[in-house]
Amino acid sequence: MNLEFAHIKRMDINKLTLNFPDEREKMFRAYYFENSHTATRISFILVALLYGIFSYLDYVMAGEHTVLFWKIRFFVVIPVLFAVFFLSFLKSFKHYWQELMFSSYLVAAMGIIIMIVILPNDFVYSNGMLLIFFAGYVFIKLRFLLASIAGWVSVFMYNIISLNYGNVEYTTILTNDFFFVGANLIGMFAAYNAEVFDRRNFYLYIQVAQKNKDIEFINKNLEKTVDRRTKLLNMRNEELHNEVARRIVIEQDLILAKDKAEQSDRLKSAFLTNMSHEIRTPMNGIIGFANLLREAENDEELNEFIDIIIKNGDHLLNLINDIIDLSKIEAGILHIQNQSFNLNSLTKEIFTLFASNHNVLEKNLVFTKNDGLTDDHSYIITDRTRLKQILINLINNAVKYTEAGSVEFGYEIINDQLNFYIKDTGIGIEEKQQEHLFERFMQVTLNNTPKKEGTGLGLAITKTYLKMMGGSIKVRSTLNVGSTFSFKLPVEIPEKQE
Ligand code: ADP
Repeated sequence: MNLEFAHIKRMDINKLTLNFPDEREKMFRAYYFENSHTATRISFILVALLYGIFSYLDYVMAGEHTVLFWKIRFFVVIPVLFAVFFLSFLKSFKHYWQELMFSSYLVAAMGIIIMIVILPNDFVYSNGMLLIFFAGYVFIKLRFLLASIAGWVSVFMYNIISLNYGNVEYTTILTNDFFFVGANLIGMFAAYNAEVFDRRNFYLYIQVAQKNKDIEFINKNLEKTVDRRTKLLNMRNEELHNEVARRIVIEQDLILAKDKAEQSDRLKSAFLTNMSHEIRTPMNGIIGFANLLREAENDEELNEFIDIIIKNGDHLLNLINDIIDLSKIEAGILHIQNQSFNLNSLTKEIFTLFASNHNVLEKNLVFTKNDGLTDDHSYIITDRTRLKQILINLINNAVKYTEAGSVEFGYEIINDQLNFYIKDTGIGIEEKQQEHLFERFMQVTLNNTPKKEGTGLGLAITKTYLKMMGGSIKVRSTLNVGSTFSFKLPVEIPEKQE
């Protein structure tokens, strides 16, 4: 063990009075009183008893002075000692207990001094004086300074009284002084050490108490710090959780984006394959029949070949137009241009266009339109060109895939929403194929569709246009009964219908 004792030596008490220089002195006195007052009571009773018991020696030694000595013992000193004993039960005792003990010491000493002076050759009484010194320094809890004063005052009084009032020989006085001075010096030394020891105890006691307080404070602070750190840690944990969650979302988004990119890559390859196939077919027709032109046997055959070439040329042109449209949409350079126009004049335009359509005429289809607004109140704001293209695509399909019966188209406007429908009594579409209808080159995969002049891109383009304009399209169809394509489109209605 390597203990550091330096701080004990540093105890800054006054070397003579032994007092602490600060408020510790008051604390020490309270502490000293607390630790001493039971011992004080016991010592006073004992001293009083001894003072009484020694009266027997008066009886043996004092002869004619016995009565006087008893008076001193039983009427002066012992009552004083008992008085101190009883006062010790008062609450205020602690304020004057040292002074009281000091005074009672002097009273007891004076009693003995009178006896010594009266019977100077009786060693019994000088021994009694030694007992008084002994009690004062180590027994009755008188502090060092007061005990010393009381001791030396007693020696001084002895000398004064012996020299002035008694019949005492100098040698006796000198002999006694030797013993009295010796006893006082030893007593002082003992009292000094005892008090320094007491004060050191107290000093350590308050230091330990202070350290305990410090430790308590540190502990409390530690708890607070731990609390704070725990909270911080929890916060960080939550942040980390959120971050992990965020990363998971990002990761999922990335996976989706990757899937999308891969799908789009696949679609692009499929598109290119389809496109080259779709372009090659009419091109073969054109080149093949162009080569046959020279070999035509008559005008009729020649015209037939020319018709085929023109038809394939038209088809190729349509295909290229559709592909260009699709590319424009994908490149993001196709923009919606809204304008105010009369919807009924558009439907009329389209109606006129299809009234003379070869499909309608050849198959003798009943072709009708059904406007939802009157001509004067059918102004709307949307992209006219795209709307026209959508209608042409859908009506073109309807007349193309209807062999007999009717094709009807019409609209209504409810709450700024244009609802169009195109209804035919055509070949219809199988239910499981309906969901793929709006994909590119769909025609190729539909096995019930007789190979009509078409690109398989019309519905894909139509759906994309509608999406760009904030609308949507759906189909209801029964095989061999007919189909109804209907689309919704949010439109603005101008306040002034001109
Ligand atoms: P196409 O140029 O071949 O008409 P679309 O994308 O316009 O290409 O149509 C895709 C396919 O959807 C058509 O080939 C056809 O099989 C089917 N289809 C479209 N409209 C109708 C309809 N009104 N009745 C029956 N089938 C249709």
